[in-house]
Amino acid sequence: MIRVLDSFTADKIAAGEVIERPVSAVKELVENSIDAGAAQIIVELRGGGKSYIRITDDGCGIAADEAETAFLRHATSKISSISDLDEISSLGFRGEALASIAAVSRLTMVSRTEDAAAGVKLVLHGGQVISCERAGANRGTTIIVEDLFYNTPARRKFMKSDAREASAVIELIQQYAICYAGVKFMMINNGQTVFTTRGDGDVLGAAGILYPDMHAQRLIPLESGIVRGYVSDPGTTRSNRKGQLFFVNGRLVNSAVIEKGLVEGYSGRIFSGHPLAILFIEQDPRDIDVNIHPGKREIRFLRQDEVCSSIADAVSTAVMSGRGIPDAFAVRTEPASGSAGPERAAAEAPAESGQTSIRDYLKDLERTPREPLSQPHAAYDISSVKEDMPSFESQAPAPFDFSELSFRGYVFDTYIIMQGADSLYIFDQHAAHERIFYEKFMEGYNNSSHIPQPVLTPFTINVSADVYLSGRQDLDGLRRIGFEVEDFGDRTFMVRGVPEYMTLEEAEGFARGWLEGADGSRSANDAVRDKLIMRSCKSAVKANDSLSELEINDLMRRLAGCANPFSCPHGRPTFIKVTSYDIERSFKRK
Ligand code: ADP
Ligand code: MG
Repeated sequence: MIRVLDSFTADKIAAGEVIERPVSAVKELVENSIDAGAAQIIVELRGGGKSYIRITDDGCGIAADEAETAFLRHATSKISSISDLDEISSLGFRGEALASIAAVSRLTMVSRTEDAAAGVKLVLHGGQVISCERAGANRGTTIIVEDLFYNTPARRKFMKSDAREASAVIELIQQYAICYAGVKFMMINNGQTVFTTRGDGDVLGAAGILYPDMHAQRLIPLESGIVRGYVSDPGTTRSNRKGQLFFVNGRLVNSAVIEKGLVEGYSGRIFSGHPLAILFIEQDPRDIDVNIHPGKREIRFLRQDEVCSSIADAVSTAVMSGRGIPDAFAVRTEPASGSAGPERAAAEAPAESGQTSIRDYLKDLERTPREPLSQPHAAYDISSVKEDMPSFESQAPAPFDFSELSFRGYVFDTYIIMQGADSLYIFDQHAAHERIFYEKFMEGYNNSSHIPQPVLTPFTINVSADVYLSGRQDLDGLRRIGFEVEDFGDRTFMVRGVPEYMTLEEAEGFARGWLEGADGSRSANDAVRDKLIMRSCKSAVKANDSLSELEINDLMRRLAGCANPFSCPHGRPTFIKVTSYDIERSFKRK
């Protein structure tokens, strides 16, 4: 039942629905279709949505006698009182969108409910009802919005080019199509089908169609507690955050809290850029506030620390599994070629790198209107993606098992080759060693009592005058780590005790490095961490230092014991994998 909210409740919904561009109208209309339980949604644009927007769904429809009510401000079937505002499970709730859109356009709605013999057709211009009559219609609702902002020239001026406005809509529909993978979306722009999704509920399948550069098949599944979804291995990143989609209770949101959890989950394993992520977060509706932003794009979490740490945990479990090992072929692999239907070709041809290329594609369209789509790349073969694609229900992957590896060789005095069940792994001896030292130092630092172990023969460290001057200021830092050290005068420091977790040799190198880099401007913890990273780098075996098989075994054993064996403290990988599948494919066996 659609009813007008009382003014008290209406006023509480302070954020207000604001239609400022075609994409904001499309967003509201598509959300209405989803709320109506649609299995199929068609979005059609002309002129970037400025001249024409059509949204057709097969949802529950609107009863003829409620059609006009739906367009009244604060008319909604989704909540009825202020307490419902605390438990919103639908995307809409303000009862303002239809009224707002109708007020600034010429709008036609055709709708029929399941049990009605006939449908209803309602026409409004600038919010005024022009006609309301019986009409034949399929079950569901079609809303056509023409000449957006025809009566508000000020707002019309702020719209961007047709291509830019269309691009924003396409980006939005791509995101909804992933979130609502069970809904079949069709996106049509200026008479051309831009993409169609299958609507079979397969999130990765949808992601693969819509973002071919997302390497959907290589994303790592995660599922724990309030969060499920997919993340990339730490080596697969983008320079911006466009590869990160966050959905909270089915609502697409921007969220610093989620971002933070994601980054923490990688715990320093990202060398540069932003990882890819599709995260679905479930929260008790009472624990979030979705009514703080006109576009409902921002939300507030009541338990934000909990949300952040659950995400971090889930992400960390996923990337610490074997699936997080960078794939040597991942970067260079050309998508497998295969025939694609015209729809898929339309969806994929423009996209070498997701949205940017759709933008380029739209720019091209602008220049040479309505030319058939060119196909610069081999079509992306979704079947190859499906093959090793984990289903959404799959468990979090098992942790990587070093004991399954067997030694197969050592090349360039730097790389160790190990074989696993269906992949071979190439270890970088320097990076691996760095990781081992770093964890050893860190653990020592964290666990030790920081009480120095006296050394039998105290040793001195002689430094240059400048180092002596700055080093003197920083002796307390060394003492906190577990050194017993004093200023011996004449550019010399005397060390009488060293941390229990360092050998004498390591300790001497560490103390020297510390003194040489003394810099009081940073926090002690950061400084320790940096120093430990530097020391682990210096202590680690270099590339081209030939190791014996015994040393290699020892290195592997110690790496396997690390908390994070997958990357060095700088974030570079300690090992990469080459799957037998990729090898076979390279030899054209597959
Ligand atoms: P809200 O979504 O906040 O309730 P809207 O102005 O967007 O407000 O829509 C008003 C009402 O019209 C909705 O509550 C719903 O009952 C009905 N409605 C809108 N669009 C559709 C649709 N596509 N299918 C079925 N009902 C719809
Ligand atoms: Mg709505």
